[in-house]
Amino acid sequence: MNGNFAADLEAVFAVNRGKPALRLVGGGVWTFGDLLDAVNRLAGVLVGLGTKPGDRLLAQVEKSPEAVALYIAALKVGAVYVPLNTAYTAAELDYFIADAAPRLFVRAPSTPCPDVGPSGPAVLTLGAEGQGLNAAMAGAAPFDPVVDRQADDLAALVYTSGTTGRAKGAMLTHRNIRSNALALRSCWGWRDDEVLLHALPLFHVHGLFIALHCTLLGATPTIFLPRFDVETVMRFLPEATVMMGVPTFYSRLLSQPDFGPGHCAGMRLFICGSAPLTERVFQAWETRTGHRILERYGMSETIINTSNPLTGKRVAGSVGFPLPGVEVRIAGKDGTVLPAGRVGGIEVRGDNVFRGYWRMPEKTAEEFRADGFFISGDLGVMDGEGRLSIVGRSKDLIISGGYNVYPKEVEALIDQLDGVAESAVIGVPHPDFGEGVVAVVVPTSAPVTLEQVNVHLHDRLARFKQPKQVVNLDALPRNSMGKVRKNRLRERFADLFAQVTASV
Ligand code: AMP
Repeated sequence: MNGNFAADLEAVFAVNRGKPALRLVGGGVWTFGDLLDAVNRLAGVLVGLGTKPGDRLLAQVEKSPEAVALYIAALKVGAVYVPLNTAYTAAELDYFIADAAPRLFVRAPSTPCPDVGPSGPAVLTLGAEGQGLNAAMAGAAPFDPVVDRQADDLAALVYTSGTTGRAKGAMLTHRNIRSNALALRSCWGWRDDEVLLHALPLFHVHGLFIALHCTLLGATPTIFLPRFDVETVMRFLPEATVMMGVPTFYSRLLSQPDFGPGHCAGMRLFICGSAPLTERVFQAWETRTGHRILERYGMSETIINTSNPLTGKRVAGSVGFPLPGVEVRIAGKDGTVLPAGRVGGIEVRGDNVFRGYWRMPEKTAEEFRADGFFISGDLGVMDGEGRLSIVGRSKDLIISGGYNVYPKEVEALIDQLDGVAESAVIGVPHPDFGEGVVAVVVPTSAPVTLEQVNVHLHDRLARFKQPKQVVNLDALPRNSMGKVRKNRLRERFADLFAQVTASV
């Protein structure tokens, strides 16, 4: 049997050719037949460019039906799909190109064009009518066969920043994405008459795998929005049955006084994840709409680990139970498994767990136990029934608006700024973004301003990683080992954004 996940998708597309797959804001519709034809033509272009199984295809593209087809075409020809956030700057892009060493780099016409040199990847655009891949696919001969892959061959590299500041490519296999898609479809009881409202980006596992795989495998229509925009979501929500979102989606909808049960009349399920959903938003949502949000927990390395139940109690502040085929345990630093009620590191094992970090064997070895459990870096506690709650992150990760910001990367750049002796970047509660990025700096003389910091970061870091506030201190609090006590800083500046208009 072909282990290539593209074969699963194509089998569904082929028998549902006439059904709507992607409904666009402007009124256009792509059927499953349209999608299959685009996949086959793009696969023809990729093969024509010499793409071989195992080659990486780096894609920094805007969300579009063609981008969906590009992802599936990459899998189909046996390539490894590497999605990148469109917010990354040219400097960040250089790192990804050097690390992933792709055969092909597909970029949006609006993103920076890197100088890849003669030995670099072929560079093509996607999204400019009549140019680049758009033009090439229009005239390409379709490539029909799905290239044979083993289930444990790589399907995607998903970059996730590390505490060192260096992004790591999580190697996800066909088995990982297939097993998780099937588990989610059954867990969330995907129905034949489902209509998914999709407002997530396609460069993250949430929008690309979790949301898309459920709906594509189900042969159900997707209301395919280019981005989350509160008015557009309110316009289309009455036509949907399922929405998957990050907590910011929910708080932004609640901030609209005219948003209410009428928008949710046809809704069956609101799913939330990628960052902690506050109890306040969970409760406000139920009061306003009558729906209890179903929260689940996942990460780039494991896609989804746990979910609140479809039927049964959805508990605010809990991320629910392990998915079928996924084992979750709480362990101490030394790997001792802890009983219910004790806080420790969350460890995960199952077909959903990635193969390791791309070209980082030592890092991979550090993050796996001998018995195959992955040390997630999150801290959690399990109740007596096996329900998991996340209590913190051992890696000091900041999640702002659903996007991860790793402090080290931001600190390293701020420290380069004239007038900065040292810095510590933290996340503190923010009513709109969940967490807001704050740079605590020790100036060499005059205080450092937010404007100075952000001018310096403008071309170097994606906007979502840039601080929303800068605080000047005489010295950073440190422990006896010299480590900065970030928890102290987080406590001290916890109310920094309290004056920002609350969304709920
Ligand atoms: P990413 O790799 O971008 O998907 O980020 C993964 C991290 O997001 C996890 O390790 C958690 O720290 C966090 N995360 C994901 N889902 C949740 C959730 N439901 N509640 C709290 N944190 C979450």
